[in-house]
Amino acid sequence: MKERTLSIIKPDGVSRNLIGEVIRRIDGQAIKIVAMKMILMTKQQAKGFYAVHEGKPFFESVTDFMSSGPCVVMILEGEDAIKRYRKLMGATNYKDAEEGTIRREFAKDIEKNIVHGSDSRETAEFEIGYFFNKLEITGN
Ligand code: ATP
Ligand code: MG
Repeated sequence: MKERTLSIIKPDGVSRNLIGEVIRRIDGQAIKIVAMKMILMTKQQAKGFYAVHEGKPFFESVTDFMSSGPCVVMILEGEDAIKRYRKLMGATNYKDAEEGTIRREFAKDIEKNIVHGSDSRETAEFEIGYFFNKLEITGN
C-alpha cells in the first residue's frame, strides 16, 4: 500500500556533500519525494524529534549531533516506502549494514550515520507532522 515516510540527511551527510548522492539513490527507487527543505534544529527541537530515545545512553550525544548543523528533511511516498527507504539506508550501525546501502558506503560512526528514516507508520506520521505543514506537501 502507498505510504509516506520521513527522511533526513543528517548534518554529517550535508557537511560531507552527500545530499546529491542520497537523492540520486532515492530517485532510482519507486518512491517519490513529495516535500523537501533544509533546516537547522535547536538542541530542544532535536530532543523533541528523538523523544522516543530519551533516557538512552546516546540521547544527549545524538541530539547534540542533530543540532550541530543543517539537515535536509524530505517526505517520501510510494508502495512500502518505509521499508524500502530503510533498506536503502542500511542498518543503524554501518558495520552491520548490507553492502551497497547508504550507511555501509558512507557512514564512519554508529551515531553519524548520514540518514534517518521513519521505522513505522505511527512514527512516520509523528515525524512528518513535526517538520511539515500541509501547504508544504505536494500532491495533497
Ligand atoms: P534513525 O532513527 O536515525 O533512522 P535507526 O532507526 O536506524 O536510526 P535508532 O535506534 O532509532 O536507529 O537510533 C537513532 C539514532 O541514534 C541512530 O541513527 C544513531 O544516529 C543514534 N544511535 C543509535 N544507537 C546508537 C548507539 N548505540 N551509539 C551512538 N548513537 C546511536
Ligand atoms: Mg529510528
